[in-house]
Amino acid sequence: MTDCIFCKIVAGEIPARIVFEDDAVLAFEDLNPQAPTHVLVIPKKHIATLNDLSPEDAPVIGAMTRAAAAIARERGFAEDGYRTVMNCNQGGGQTVYHIHMHVLAGRALSWPPG
Ligand code: AMP
Ligand code: ZN
Repeated sequence: MTDCIFCKIVAGEIPARIVFEDDAVLAFEDLNPQAPTHVLVIPKKHIATLNDLSPEDAPVIGAMTRAAAAIARERGFAEDGYRTVMNCNQGGGQTVYHIHMHVLAGRALSWPPG
């Protein structure tokens, strides 16, 4: 999708600090980190919101989750713990309309979120 900032990162048209990549997903450092580790894991395919998932997207959601866990493990947070978040639409706090999984770690994370 030409107008999507995350599609542009996938295409290499705008820079990002990429930390993981495979056929289906890309992970990069969040531009405005909310924790010492704040990585975004995205599908390479443009999917605007969680509401737009179709049955054939199930593998890519699995790949995103596995990538998030691998990043947390690599950074030493697997045992202590970390948080994954996917915001959906305005009420959920979504600002970029290409689905992404936030991976947050490295500080105390309270519950419930704001
Ligand atoms: P959300 O509010 O859940 O849609 O999260 C969007 C996230 O994307 C925010 O945490 C932003 O800081 C982050 N973000 C926006 N533009 C970029 C970019 N060009 N590179 C990295 N992260 C970005
Ligand atoms: Zn996109």
